[in-house]
Amino acid sequence: MKIICVGRNYAEHAAELNNEIPKEPVIFMKPDTALILPKQPFFYPDFSSDVHYETEIVIRINRIGKHIEEKFAHRYYSEVALGIDFTARDLQTQLKQKGLPWEKAKAFDNSAMVGQWISIDTSPDISELDFSLHLNGKEVQAGNSRQMIFSIDALIAHISSYFTLKIGDLIFTGTPSGVGPVHKGDKLEGYLNAVKNFTLNIR
Ligand code: ZN
Repeated sequence: MKIICVGRNYAEHAAELNNEIPKEPVIFMKPDTALILPKQPFFYPDFSSDVHYETEIVIRINRIGKHIEEKFAHRYYSEVALGIDFTARDLQTQLKQKGLPWEKAKAFDNSAMVGQWISIDTSPDISELDFSLHLNGKEVQAGNSRQMIFSIDALIAHISSYFTLKIGDLIFTGTPSGVGPVHKGDKLEGYLNAVKNFTLNIR
């Protein structure tokens, strides 16, 4: 299983980190060891002092595919969840300045969290998904999948022209504006269409 992530897929988030609006999707990956196991907390790593939450819609691939056309992309997933792409922002800033790869800042153990899977058959239109993140009870991020620069189906078409998609692969589709730091003792709660999708403690 691989975890494919999309960067800068919401215009306001690209602007808050002083990044250009991309002309094609920005893609990076995390290994399967990045995934937080069910009911586990996020353990704050000792190599960073500025770990940020990024709340993202996540889809799970349910059939193998390569060079998938956008119009057929919807056949390759049937579940959606809300997730967190944890980012060691201090490390990422240093790596970006030196033009180095992002893995240490983005792909470390516990850097990917996924909430409860929801069948797309029972949830509303995937292109109109509302989501939000609450930090210690206060809303800090809110978005809707219609604000994506590249739609989920466009992302699948693009990604699968480089990487064969396999059953169980996860795609993190990018974060809206409002990213910020977490601290030990914090509690994160994610809502998908106003229904709680996850609770995660920072330890
Ligand atoms: Zn992200």
